[in-house]
Order: sequence, then structure tokens, then C-alpha cells
Amino acid sequence: MDTIECDVLVIGSGGAGARAAIEANESGANVLIVSKTLEGKAHTVMAEGGINAALAHRDPNDSIEEHFRDTVEEGVFLNDQIMAELLARETPDRVYDLEGYGAVFDRIGERIAQRPFGGQSHPRTCYVGDSTGHEMIMTLVEEARRRCIAYHSEVFVTKLLKDRSGSICGAFGLDFRTGTYKLYRAKAVVLATGGAGRVFKVTSNPHEASGDGYAIAMRAGATLQDMEQTQFHPTGMVYPASARGILVTEAIRGEGGVLLNKDGERFMSRYNPDQMELSPRDQVARAIYTEIQEGRGTEMGGVYLDITHKGKEHIMEKLPRMVKQFEKFANVDITETPMLVAPTAHHFMGGVKVDPYTCESQDISGLFVCGETAAGVHGANRLGGNALAETQVFGKRAGEAAARHALGRGMPECDEEDARREIERLEAPFESDGERPQALIGRLQEVMWKHAGIVRSEALLEEGLKAVGEIESQPVRVVKGRRFNLEWIDFIELRNMTLVSRAVMMSALARRESRGAHFRSDHPKRNDAIGLVNIMSRLKDGEITMDSRPVTITKLKPVLRRGDA
Ligand SMILES: Cc1cc2nc3c(=O)[nH]c(=O)nc-3n(C[C@H](O)[C@H](O)[C@H](O)COP(=O)(O)OP(=O)(O)OC[C@H]3O[C@@H](n4cnc5c(N)ncnc54)[C@H](O)[C@@H]3O)c2cc1C
Repeated sequence: MDTIECDVLVIGSGGAGARAAIEANESGANVLIVSKTLEGKAHTVMAEGGINAALAHRDPNDSIEEHFRDTVEEGVFLNDQIMAELLARETPDRVYDLEGYGAVFDRIGERIAQRPFGGQSHPRTCYVGDSTGHEMIMTLVEEARRRCIAYHSEVFVTKLLKDRSGSICGAFGLDFRTGTYKLYRAKAVVLATGGAGRVFKVTSNPHEASGDGYAIAMRAGATLQDMEQTQFHPTGMVYPASARGILVTEAIRGEGGVLLNKDGERFMSRYNPDQMELSPRDQVARAIYTEIQEGRGTEMGGVYLDITHKGKEHIMEKLPRMVKQFEKFANVDITETPMLVAPTAHHFMGGVKVDPYTCESQDISGLFVCGETAAGVHGANRLGGNALAETQVFGKRAGEAAARHALGRGMPECDEEDARREIERLEAPFESDGERPQALIGRLQEVMWKHAGIVRSEALLEEGLKAVGEIESQPVRVVKGRRFNLEWIDFIELRNMTLVSRAVMMSALARRESRGAHFRSDHPKRNDAIGLVNIMSRLKDGEITMDSRPVTITKLKPVLRRGDA
């Protein structure tokens, strides 16, 4: 077991982790980034449509207040309003930081261009064609390299370590290239491991989005918030089966794409005639789901998304990646033929409960959490373009606060016994007879899609929880061998995914109303009398306990959303 020391350990190198590392370095801390993927290969790289910032370049009526209002109204008032306001206020400067590091955003004249996105009152999404995340990650990686920030790739962090006082003292990981263990001692830890879309059978997320951060934070004693709020993006690919769920960016609707059912009807006029295709994501996803359920979908179980009326030149310029994606996977030319689309699991609005200003976990001193792993900003429905904004605003805040915390304390002691117990847990499947982890992951994904998907109910969730319990209790066997043993990684991810799935289902049971992405067929209406609370889950002696707390409302009083009858 190698032992490595640093002031600030950053776990995850997506937009949030990379930005946190840069800021902690800027603040004078000795920083180490550790990631289970290669440098630059984070989920953020897949982000397509853009990043929201109220620059008011395209519409002078846009403002920070409008961005804040859109975020909270479309989050159906479940957001932490302090965080939503920080997001709106600080993203413009974070976009200019990115420019300062070398990112090249698309422009209109001399100014950064902006496009409309769903649920927003003004066009405020800054973009780089349909490859915004790629440009951001390449830029952040370059900046981190320029600063000589140390980077350990292909190390899977499996446990957060705490000292005797309960403060963070580091983390434990498996270097899966060599099959050896690493004990990181750190004065502060930033957790930025992204989301958990992979718990669902159909998802836009990459393989690594297995919710590790939620699981390891929960095991360390952190509270999770609003885990029932899982966003289903309205438009994922339907065909071929191997491409099912791959994202079809909202930028297509932002650029004028229309949704049609099998009869050629522009059906959004029946659901939200004001905002049509640019209604909030949860409304569009449910509208598509309803069209398909009620027999107005296509034979393959989707609806059409048509942008052909915009002409080849415009589509090639604004959506080149989508043109290639459909050409490559489905052999479809989207400049001439409508796309087939259906909802896909996309984003976790819930996550670790943090302090809105510093991103420190409310339960564990020295643990800072940002990006998709943290809860609070998006409430019950994330606006397209706000996740990338979150990575930059709260990545910077977490990095700054972590450095401040680290530079004010000595190196804490970690108990090596904790590491040894973790090794025993990790190595158990080498000795066991049982099922292969990949088969159990497949079963879990089916269960989550069917029982905790777009439409939920008490009966479905109860049954689903039972099924997850059965999967969890199965003994697991993996092939022996330490170097690059990907089945071993599957086992570790399976354990994280089942814990996260349980938290999602129990939170979904606890929210006895429908709000944003969380829709209950047995409680189909939003109910502010009981629903203006954040649902909290914690792990105690292996069991998840539930609790709720009133939402932080600082400015905006709840009103009805357009399209929410
Ligand atoms: C296809 C797609 C398109 C999107 N488009 C947009 C868009 O246009 N605009 C927008 O605002 N949002 C978009 N999103 C959402 C947005 O990309 C994500 O929410 C955001 O990038 C998450 O960033 P992050 O830094 O929190 O996590 P990630 O980018 O997911 O990074 C997580 C990091 O943690 C590492 N990690 C995870 N577990 C471990 C572990 N156990 N040990 C060590 N390392 C670990 C991973 O390897 C990775 O480096 C899109 C999402 C998808 C899937």
C-alpha cells in the first residue's frame, strides 16, 4: 500500500474537480487530483449544448435576476435559493475565467454567442457548437498541467477516511492498472465524482457514472438530499439498440427542432403551448412518455425530432456532432430525415448536502463536495446549461474553501486499520462463490428503469426496493487477478450502485407528491403543503434513515409553473 500526502486531494477530474483543483492551487495549496478515468476523460467532456451565463449578449433584457428566477421556478422551488443565486451571479465571471484559460466560445461579432435552451426566459446558453464540454475539459486540463498539478489516473477511490475527531484525513483507492492500493493522506478532500445515471437501464451517461461519490460519502456519514430527483432528458436515441439512450442534445430544440408524434402532430401544443419544445425538461419528457404510452409513438417506441426545415448549412454549422452521431450509429442524415427520440436517464439533481457558500459537507469537516455529486442548486428540475455552470461556480468555491481549510491545519492522522478493513471488503469476491457482478448490474438497471423511472408509485417503489435488496444480498464472484481486472471494478461499482438505488427509491417513497422530475401516479399533483421540503437520507448501521427539512427560500415565493396544471 503506497501512502501519498497532499494538502488538498481532489477526487474526480470533470469540470467541477478540475476547476476546484485549479482554485486550490491558486490559493497556495499542494493539490493532487485522483480519477478513475484518464485525464480529460470525464463525463463533462460529453456535454454538448452549452453553459448558461446571463451575459445578455443576445437579449439585453436578460439579467442575473432572470437567470436566478428561471433556475428556481423551473426547479419547482425545491432549490436552495442561496445556491441558485450564487450560480446566476457568478457564472458570467466563470465563463470569462474559461476564456482566460484559453477556451474559444462561438461568437457573434466580437461577443460570445448565446442560444435559447428549454425553460429559460432569454437565450443565455454560451456554446462551442455542440461540443462545449469538450472545449471546457481540454482547457481546464491544460490549465491544470500549466500549473503542474499532480494527477493520478485510473485510481478508483473506494472509501473516505476520517481521523479520530471525525474530520476528513484522506481517502483510500485501488490503482487498477497495477492492482495495488493507495492511501492518500490529505488535510482536505474535494469530492467531485459526478452522477449516477448508470443505475438506470437507459441513460445518456458514460460507464463511469456509477454514483461512487454518493455511496462513499454516505458510508462516511454524509447526508444525501433529494435523491428522488433524477432527471430524464426528453431526447435520447432510440435506434439501434446499442445506441439506446445516447443523448440528442437540447441544442437541437434550441436551434428550432420540433417534436412530432407518429401522426405528424406537434404534440407539445397540448402540454405547454407557451413554451412548446422549449418547455422544462421534465414536462417534455413526460409528454413524450405519454404520447408513446397512449399509442401515438412510433413502432420503435419513440417520437420524431425534426430539424430538417433549418437547412443543411445551418445544421452542419450548429450541430456537427449530432450530424456525425446519427450518421455513425443509425445511418441517418438528420439534415434530411427526422430523428427518432425517447427519454433517457440523464442527471442527478440530488446529492450530498453541502454548505451553500463553501460546499463543505454539513456532517464531515474537511470534506468539500461540488458538481453533480452535490445537491441544492437545481431543485426538482435542472435547466439545460446549468450543470456546466454549477461545475465552474461551485468547483471554484469548493477549491478555495478546501485550500483555506487545509492551510489552517496540520496533516491529520489516518487509522491504517480502516484501510485494512477496506481491503478485506474489496477482496471478498475473490474467495466467494456467487453471481458475476455484470449480471447483477444488468438486473439492477432493469429494476431501476421499471420501478423508479419516469412514472413511479408506492407499489412500484416498494416492489423495486425488494428487488434491489435481493440483488444486494447476492454473493458475488469475480475472476482472480489484480491488474486491470475490470470485473473487480464492476463489483465495487455494483455495491455503490445498489446503495444509491436504495437511496433513490426510499427518497421517492418519502416524497408523496409530484414535483419536477419526480412524478408519482398515485400522487400526481404538486402539493406545496407537504412538498416544500428537502428529503434527506443517511446511512446508519447499514440501513438508510429518512428525514426532511424545509427548503431554503430566501427570495422567491412559490408560484405555479407554466405548463404545470
Ligand atoms: C451527454 C451529456 C450531455 C450533457 N450536456 C450538457 C450541457 O450541454 N450543458 C450542461 O450544463 N450540462 C450538460 N450535461 C450535464 C453535465 O455534463 C454534467 O452534469 C457535468 O459535466 C458533471 O460534471 P462533474 O465535474 O460533476 O462530474 P464528471 O464530469 O462526471 O466527472 C466525474 C469525475 O469523477 C471521476 N470519478 C468518479 N468516480 C470515481 C471514483 N470512485 N474514484 C475516482 N474517480 C472517480 C470520474 O472519472 C471523472 O473524472 C450533459 C450530460 C451528458 C451525459
